[in-house]
Amino acid sequence: MEQTAEIQRHIAFHLTGAPGGDLEPVDSAVRPALLAPYRELAALRYDYPVVLVDDATDEACICSLTALVDDLLREGAPRGVEGEGVRRDVFRAEREIRRLVAEGERGTLSDVWARAAPALADAADHLKVDGALADCDHELARRVVAHAWHSVQRDKARRFHADVDRLVQALSDILRAAFVDSEPGRRPESLQAAFGSLHRDQFDFDTMSRLLSRSAPRDELPPDRRHRIESALEVLRRQRFFDPAPGTTLAQSAEPPFEYRYSSCRAAVEAFRERLPAVVEFVKAMSIAELEADGRYVGSQHDAFFEAFDENSLSRDDLARFPDYLVCVQGDESGAVIDLLSSGLPVKVLVETEDLLAPEHFGVHLRSTQLASTVIGLIDVFAFQATSSSLYQLREHLLAGLRYAGPTLVSVFSGPAAPSSDLPPYLLSAAALEGRAFPAFTYDPQAGPDLALRFTVDENPQAELDWPLAPLEYADASLQRVVEQIPFTLVDFAVCDRRYARHFARIPPEHWSDETVPVDQWLALDPADAEARVPHVLVVDDNDRLERLIVDARLMHAARRCRELWHGLQELGLAHLRVEPAPVHEAPSEAVEEAVQEAVAEAPEQTVVEAPAADDPWIETPRCSTCNECTGINDRMFAYNDNKQAYIKDPDAGTFRDLVEAAESCQVAVIHPGKPRNPSEPGLEELVERAKGFH
Ligand code: SF4
Repeated sequence: MEQTAEIQRHIAFHLTGAPGGDLEPVDSAVRPALLAPYRELAALRYDYPVVLVDDATDEACICSLTALVDDLLREGAPRGVEGEGVRRDVFRAEREIRRLVAEGERGTLSDVWARAAPALADAADHLKVDGALADCDHELARRVVAHAWHSVQRDKARRFHADVDRLVQALSDILRAAFVDSEPGRRPESLQAAFGSLHRDQFDFDTMSRLLSRSAPRDELPPDRRHRIESALEVLRRQRFFDPAPGTTLAQSAEPPFEYRYSSCRAAVEAFRERLPAVVEFVKAMSIAELEADGRYVGSQHDAFFEAFDENSLSRDDLARFPDYLVCVQGDESGAVIDLLSSGLPVKVLVETEDLLAPEHFGVHLRSTQLASTVIGLIDVFAFQATSSSLYQLREHLLAGLRYAGPTLVSVFSGPAAPSSDLPPYLLSAAALEGRAFPAFTYDPQAGPDLALRFTVDENPQAELDWPLAPLEYADASLQRVVEQIPFTLVDFAVCDRRYARHFARIPPEHWSDETVPVDQWLALDPADAEARVPHVLVVDDNDRLERLIVDARLMHAARRCRELWHGLQELGLAHLRVEPAPVHEAPSEAVEEAVQEAVAEAPEQTVVEAPAADDPWIETPRCSTCNECTGINDRMFAYNDNKQAYIKDPDAGTFRDLVEAAESCQVAVIHPGKPRNPSEPGLEELVERAKGFH
């Protein structure tokens, strides 16, 4: 009887979030049981900190400290017992560097090494690379992405300068040859200058000039050709797109190079539009220079073509010669990001997500994970998503996205700016990946004609499962060793963040029973069985004592939706759906101006959708990107039409809360909740306030 009353209280907590009876609030630090072994992170050898290597290209631009130390020892320490002391000292230096960086020390590897282990300065001299150290913290995504972007732009600059320098040289040679053959070129002073000071006394330049002038064919450049070549040369020499490379024939422009890093989509688009005439002029000059250098310029064919040359003449390959714009924004600009990426401009957009589960209206902010999957629908946009903990492992995918000759989205969970967890940022970030709260994936439009080839979720731990499994080893009540495989779920991720503590209640060990079941098993129950059970998660306290926390319904609702979103990504990764190959190398000629117009339009609505009269909820169906978010919340209220785009099937088949949460979850912000239809629905005041942003 007593047991039944307890279970009823557990169920009451699960449904209402109100603790009572034997239940205790979670008011002290706990962590998921599977993270118990990682209490002293700085003592472990793992991927962070990383070194942002100076002047390196490809994957070598980001190295892990651990890998560098391993290389150092492999090449520098004697093998066997003889090298044992060296290895121990170097590992100690590595641990000290890791500790210093975790405490906020900044600097290059060589600087921090000198502070951490002054006695091992000789060993540091044998490190092959140097560069700024970066730990897995809130700043990491920006630092790594900016560094990798710089590395890619440096490569681009090298190619750009090689091309431009070759053309400048070729055009200069044409002018020089014409001058030598010309009347001014055969004057004594010109001949003397051409021979240089070494032979100045050995020739009679006046006689030479008379002889040459008598036989000269008077073959100066026609004025229009000279003008064309000189104009092209001048444009090539005063470019402001890249820094002038040392040793090239390009002169330093009177004006400084353009800036390419922005913190808002609008600013990047405006800069692109402002510079577009300079880009057109430069591409035109290069094209003319190519033709002149090869002797293929034919006035009757090319004059009219270049006369009409404008932004509509630019191809994606033309734009790919220039630096990419790097735009770094927070997750709440997703509408502007989608507009920018769909415009086709040469942009690399880093979207950082700080929070996955909004504490104030729990469960709706899984939408942050939806941005990248929405972008996949744009077909020719490269999308890469990762947590900051996985950026090092996935750097190859990041660099592929930054090298891609088209728009790229880099979506990173960087963790909260203000600490909200007792775990180090690396562990919190890894928990988001493990718990499917922020899955990693890559969509590469160039990887093949099939979605299955373009899209991969393989980088996630145990990607074939709903939740990754890991062994948990503990001593049971009779002190017997037990090893169980347990899953790491979204609920484990929520345990890591103390802002969500109210969604859990602690059950004293003496009241543990089979009436509570692990989260993954509870999610698999049919609704009738689930009503009679309560989900629990295993955690450890500061002394590594195992505890059971029961979980409220709101968090379980988020866990269910998280699992559904993950299923959607798994299906995408496995889909053998044929899609149209992306126009990667040849963009339609009118694309650029259209893109600019779309991206900067003050009134971005492209499709006119009639809003219903009165206060009914409605959806701008033609703009729906089929992300399953609203249908996942209530599939009786929201449904898809034949075009697989959402509409409101029955506004009375759910609550106003469903409408507001769907509107908040919708990546493209096309759901309008209208006014509440049931005036007695609980919490209306707060919901109406939240709905205001979607009228
Ligand atoms: S309307 Fe629904 S399915 Fe369409 S994009 Fe918005 S949330 Fe996704």
